[in-house]
Amino acid sequence: MSFTDPFYLLAIAFVAGINFLFVRSIWRLVYFPKGEARAMDRFYRQHSLYYNKLDDRLKKRFLQRAYSFTKSLKIIGRMGVEVTQPIKLMVVAAMVQITFGYKRYFLKNFRTVFVYPDSFRNPHTGNMHDGEVHPRGLISFSLKKLLKGFEDPYDAINLGLHEMAHALMHSILTSSGPQGSLNATLDDILTIARLEMEKINAGEPHVFRSYAGANASEFFAVAVEHFFENPKGLKSELPTLYSKLCDLLKQDPALNLFLVQ
Ligand SMILES: [Zn+2]
Repeated sequence: MSFTDPFYLLAIAFVAGINFLFVRSIWRLVYFPKGEARAMDRFYRQHSLYYNKLDDRLKKRFLQRAYSFTKSLKIIGRMGVEVTQPIKLMVVAAMVQITFGYKRYFLKNFRTVFVYPDSFRNPHTGNMHDGEVHPRGLISFSLKKLLKGFEDPYDAINLGLHEMAHALMHSILTSSGPQGSLNATLDDILTIARLEMEKINAGEPHVFRSYAGANASEFFAVAVEHFFENPKGLKSELPTLYSKLCDLLKQDPALNLFLVQ
């Protein structure tokens, strides 16, 4: 076969085309226009206490990751919601926050987000939800409740963090990659969950709201809300759980450490 063989030329064109698409998709994720960075910085300074606690180096890391998520996720408005840039930034804020300690921060499989104006009905079960995580890679939010979650950063109720905790748990349980290596730590947390759920369901006074007693998955999601919005309270009430969450998320918000290796 000679270099001028049409088949050979076609093969070269094909490989070059694939490479071009690959390089273009990577470039779109890492190229971060300065004007956009400044606008996002202004936005998160106004809306995210977590962002405000980061030093300048970590703020850059936060913005870069938020930008990557906004470019790589399909964020789709439902029932009339128009997905504007501020809505995108609110949707990805919790995703950046919960995975901030990781080098590989994308959650396996989760690539699509539906944003509803308010609570929505699951068409299969008929139940109403404020948020939902589907194992096949779909996360759904009520926009109203998502925004409300960021209004009070100390009340340990944050829909974004709650749903992202479900997505992260699913990612850890099903991944053989870097997040899969966190399985043993998650197991320890779920063992603590079973003991604490008994107390919650027996009506004993508890740092968590009663919803945490529904099942181990809800307990974990509520624990993550407390970890970020009530870290000192959680650390003093349930120190072992707090320490295991630090190991799992590689962050220690009670000490304002957001990158613990
Ligand atoms: Zn939940």
